[in-house]
Amino acid sequence: MSNYYVSTLPQARGEHVVHAEGCPQLERMPFRVNLGEYPTSDDAVEKARILFPHVVGCQQCAAQRQHGDERSDDANSSGMS
Ligand SMILES: [Zn+2]
Repeated sequence: MSNYYVSTLPQARGEHVVHAEGCPQLERMPFRVNLGEYPTSDDAVEKARILFPHVVGCQQCAAQRQHGDERSDDANSSGMS
């Protein structure tokens, strides 16, 4: 479960973006509503659609979740053991 936020200020196209907690873009998003904890971003987006007509999930959050917490450039040091 992750904590999700939705921006209260829409983007140029009128879309409100949902971010998971820990997304770097959240720091640049002062106007936001805490949606609570959800198992997937899709659930959080669905909840946000109750508040706003146009909601999209953050691409950066989705990418981060797929790649996990791999921040090191040295891929050789983290082999399966
Ligand atoms: Zn995000």
